[in-house]
Amino acid sequence: MEDKRNYCPIHKKRLVITKTRFGPRGDCPEIGCTVVLWYNDETALPADKETRKARHEVHILFDPLWQTGKFKRTKLYKMLSSYMRLKPKKTHIGMFTKEQCEKAIEFVNSLHHGTDLDRIHY
Ligand SMILES: [Zn+2]
Repeated sequence: MEDKRNYCPIHKKRLVITKTRFGPRGDCPEIGCTVVLWYNDETALPADKETRKARHEVHILFDPLWQTGKFKRTKLYKMLSSYMRLKPKKTHIGMFTKEQCEKAIEFVNSLHHGTDLDRIHY
């Protein structure tokens, strides 16, 4: 785990850490590689620009579900875990690959369509 946070998943090169006003940031030294890790996000894994964008989109869709109180946060993450067939410990959006992000968005959409838990509210 600690190791995974220090290496580029594409080039397997050790990230170069710089201090920024947003906290320590790790960059892959390979020219043209967009892999970054913000170390302040304790559960995140390094990812390229496309993946980080996808994770951001998941947060935009997923977070309001618990922020608005529609679902309890812990319960929502448990539901996401089982939908994605991941262990709860591995169910962190900051760890997701691009494909996993697509699956997570699918999960959010399934909630909006009322296929699962909306029924329980009746
Ligand atoms: Zn790289």
